[in-house]
Amino acid sequence: MGKIQELDTVLADQIAAGEVIERPASVVKELVENAIDAHSTRIDIMVEEAGLQEIRIIDNGDGIASDELAIAFRRHATSKIQTRRDLFRVQTMGFRGEALPSIASIADVELVSAQANQAGAMIHLRGGEVLATQAASARPGTDITVRDLFYNTPARLKYLKSPRTELSKITDLVNRLALAEPGIAFSLHHDGKEVFRTVGNGNLQQVLATIYGTKAGQKMLPLAASDPDFKITGLVSLPELTRAGRNYVTLTINQRYIRSFPLTKALIAGYGSKLMVGRYPIAVLNIELDPILVDVNVHPAKREVRLSKEEQLTALITTAVAEVIGQQNLIPDVGSQT
Ligand code: ADP
Ligand code: MG
Repeated sequence: MGKIQELDTVLADQIAAGEVIERPASVVKELVENAIDAHSTRIDIMVEEAGLQEIRIIDNGDGIASDELAIAFRRHATSKIQTRRDLFRVQTMGFRGEALPSIASIADVELVSAQANQAGAMIHLRGGEVLATQAASARPGTDITVRDLFYNTPARLKYLKSPRTELSKITDLVNRLALAEPGIAFSLHHDGKEVFRTVGNGNLQQVLATIYGTKAGQKMLPLAASDPDFKITGLVSLPELTRAGRNYVTLTINQRYIRSFPLTKALIAGYGSKLMVGRYPIAVLNIELDPILVDVNVHPAKREVRLSKEEQLTALITTAVAEVIGQQNLIPDVGSQT
C-alpha cells in the first residue's frame, strides 16, 4: 500500500466538522438556515443543557423526499447549487452540502421529514454511520434532533465555554436570525422554558422590541436608502438609545446575517458626534444587492463575506444614517429628554 491514502468519508466529515461546527450554536445556525432555505414560515428550536444534551429543530418547510434522506447526509450533497455559475449567484443560506454530514459525524442525529402530500421517513445516524432508516408518519416539514454533540471529539468538548456562555451564543444567534427574517415565526426554548418567540408577521420593529425590549422598540427610526447597486432598509436607534458595545448592530446581506467591521463602522459614522464616547447604537440594516456583488464563500460558516463596491456601500450607509438622525433633530422634541 502506498503512503498516500484517501481519507475514509467519516474521517473527512469530522475534519470538515472541525471547521463548520465549532460549538452548539453552530449546529443551531446550520439547521435553522436549512429550515429557512426550505421556505419555512415557522421554526421551533428546543435546546437542552445549552445544546450539549440535545438540539431539536422543527420546521414547516418543503421537507426532504423520503428516498433522499440518506443522500442529504452525504458530503457535498446539496439541492441548492448545481453548477459553477450558481456558486457566484447563491441565493440560499447553504450551498456547500457540508452541514448535515459534518454534524452527523460528531453526534447522534435523528431526522424525520415529509414533503406535502407524501409519506414521511426517518433516518438515524451516529458518528457518521447510518443506524436506521424507516417510514414514519410526519407532518410536512422537517424535525431534526441532534444529541451527544462532540461525543467522539473530546478535544472540542473540552474547548467549550460554560453552559451559560454557550446558551447565550445560541440565543444571540437566533435573535439575529429572527431580525433577518421577520416573516418567520421563531421560538426558542431552553430546558423546557421559553426564551423568546416572534410572531412572523413581517414587522421588524416588533421583532426588535421582542428582543431588545419595548422601550428600545419605541426609539427606533426607520431607514431606507438606495443607489443603482444597493438597497438598504432597516431601523436605527435614536442617538439617546445606546449600548456599551457594537453587538447590537445586526447586518444582513440578502437576508443572510453577516459580520462586517467596515459596514458597522460606516453605520456608526452616520451618527457623527451624536453618540457618547464608547456608546453604540442598536440597529438592523438589511442590504439587498445583486448576488454577483458578494462572495459568501470566504469562510465555511459564511459569517464573513467579501463585497465588491464596498466603499460605495459604506458611503451609502453613512449618508443614509446621517440623514435619518439629522432629520430627527428637526422634529421638536416632545419627549421626556432634555
Ligand atoms: P446545504 O444546506 O449546503 O445544501 P446541508 O448538509 O445543510 O447542505 O443539507 C443538505 C441538503 O439536505 C440540502 O441541500 C437540502 O436539500 C436538504 N435539507 C437539509 N435540511 C433541510 C430542511 N430542514 N428542510 C428541507 N430540506 C433540507
Ligand atoms: Mg445547510
